[in-house]
Amino acid sequence: MLLSDPVEQLNGVGPKRKAALASLGIDFVRDLLFHMPMRYEDRRSATPVERLVADKTAIVRGTLEDVNRRKAHGRQNLWITTAEVRDATGSVGIVWFGGWANDMTAHEGRRIVLCGAPALKERVLEFASPAYKILPDDPGEALLPDAEWNRIVPIYPTTEGLPRKWLARIIYECATSPTLRVEETLPEPLLAKRNLLSLHDALCGIHNPASRQEILEGRKSLVYREFFALQKALWEARVRRAAPGAPSLVAGNRAQKLFLRSLGFDFTPSQKDALHEISEDLDRKTPMSRLLQGDVGSGKTVVALAAAAKALGAGYQVAILAPTTVLSSQLQAGCERYLAPLGFTCLEITGGMKPSDRKNLLARVGQSEALVLTGTHALLEESVVFGKLGLAIIDEQHRFGVTQRSLLRGKNERAHALMMSATPIPRTLCLALYGDVESSLIKEKPLGRKSVATRIVDVRRIDEVYRYMRKEISSGGRCYWICPLIGDEDEGVLSRAKDMARHLRGVDIAALHGGMPAGEKKNVMARFAAGEAQVVVSTTVVEVGVDVPEASVIVVESASNFGLSQLHQLRGRVGRGDRRGVCLLLDEVQKNGVGERLAILEKCDDGFAIAEADLQLRGAGELTGLRQHGEAGFRVANFAKDTHLLEWAKEDITWLRERNKR
Ligand code: ADP
Ligand code: MG
Repeated sequence: MLLSDPVEQLNGVGPKRKAALASLGIDFVRDLLFHMPMRYEDRRSATPVERLVADKTAIVRGTLEDVNRRKAHGRQNLWITTAEVRDATGSVGIVWFGGWANDMTAHEGRRIVLCGAPALKERVLEFASPAYKILPDDPGEALLPDAEWNRIVPIYPTTEGLPRKWLARIIYECATSPTLRVEETLPEPLLAKRNLLSLHDALCGIHNPASRQEILEGRKSLVYREFFALQKALWEARVRRAAPGAPSLVAGNRAQKLFLRSLGFDFTPSQKDALHEISEDLDRKTPMSRLLQGDVGSGKTVVALAAAAKALGAGYQVAILAPTTVLSSQLQAGCERYLAPLGFTCLEITGGMKPSDRKNLLARVGQSEALVLTGTHALLEESVVFGKLGLAIIDEQHRFGVTQRSLLRGKNERAHALMMSATPIPRTLCLALYGDVESSLIKEKPLGRKSVATRIVDVRRIDEVYRYMRKEISSGGRCYWICPLIGDEDEGVLSRAKDMARHLRGVDIAALHGGMPAGEKKNVMARFAAGEAQVVVSTTVVEVGVDVPEASVIVVESASNFGLSQLHQLRGRVGRGDRRGVCLLLDEVQKNGVGERLAILEKCDDGFAIAEADLQLRGAGELTGLRQHGEAGFRVANFAKDTHLLEWAKEDITWLRERNKR
């Protein structure tokens, strides 16, 4: 077996398992070693029977006695096997269901080890279907560690078609194989300086730890590596960009003034500050790299359009990248409204364009005419070539990965870049993900905008929610209804819309779901904006940017499935006009902790505070496992608790360079 072997060369891997492994990102033997446990069970020492506690996981080692197999009462096909395990301190009951798979009668009298949490049944403790192993008669051999017993056992996340036990066993075999050695990726002096485990030892420590300490050491070494790789890439990007060569856009100041005058409202103080900072950057000959942050509705888009006006006025092209088609067409509408009257061409590129239209559009963009091109991923395709790109704007940039950002950059390395985000990015995370980007912050909302009244409502009161919606609609309001992304998305949206139609007769309800063609989605939103439909039922496609001033109510179903920041974003969709916005969070409020977590939203309206709380909550929940989901492709690193390792990695990039100079 080699680290570079494809997994299908392993015993027991057919096409089905190969596909299941691939869905976890495991294609080669090497990838198995990077599959991180979600938690551990300490199965080293057994608990004496007399010390067992109800509902607390424990290992018991003893002799199997009194095995009894019978059919369940009234259930023809269900076998039940009961038995006792006895050690020097007493005995405890076990029950297994589905007896054909566990014919324990053959093992009566043998030594057994089992792991589980015993439950209190009629005042005595009993294990139900525990993990177990029949032990060899030689007591010395019985205590040797294997994939599942007599060690600290990692528990891995798995997926359908991939038995957890099997996966654990092959990872164990890889981690303990004397012939497999993972090559080191960090420079030797760094390992010594920070006293880090080698990559090989770190991985072995994680999959086959001799102690808790070894898990922590292994984890630390991996987290550091993730941060180091990121910092290195950021540093290289910075070097590439530091050379001058970007266009100075000073010549566009007049166009920007005209733009501001045409708006019909004054910028808030922080909008002014932000635009000032951006404008200064655009005057320079080093490419701008700036993040514009501000809560939903704080007016980022108009600030970005003001920057676009400056670029256009100086004779350069502007690209605007949006994460969804709905948002792309909204931005396009904004361009048409504010930039086109100043005489600038505003184009949108979409996935479903007629080939001839597309050809014409690309031909125009390839020339040096000053124009704006808005689009989603369609904008990033290789065939889109700008003749004179001066400014790239990325809306809701956290929706894009590193690859897409660099694709846009690749359109012109020297263009200025402005990124916008309504999901506040805590400072530590921001530094890690974007390195030295400058950041501008819009603190306040345009005058007169009130915060969105937020209430947690038990799902059992859904009828009252419907009644409230009817009242709101009859006085001219409009509602969003957000379904969670679980199971079949389209199904969920459609069945909710149906149910609602029964309760809200006479109301026009539109459904918006992932399976619809882009054109149809646009249509639905247009109908909602025009008031032809008064309710949109959808998944989170309306999360970003959508601007319908009459929308006043947003209901989020199964709210606890969403992150707090995401919910905060969602509620920013309402209360953008004269009506006070209302957000109703539906869930089973009695469920563990749901109420407390969501209550943060009832009390707090500061997107940044909410983002920090979210990060802390998620960070705290994962203390035992190594796996971490979501943040920018990190497998192990957790920003809430690994800040110091991030600092190390940053210092060490410089340290290494200084050292190499000598
Ligand atoms: P964001 O992109 O930050 O969510 P938008 O730029 O879409 O916010 O602004 C939300 C709404 O507020 C838009 O309708 C916009 O025209 C309006 N708006 C923006 N700035 C101001 C302002 N200073 N005064 C009044 N209305 C504003
Ligand atoms: Mg916006």
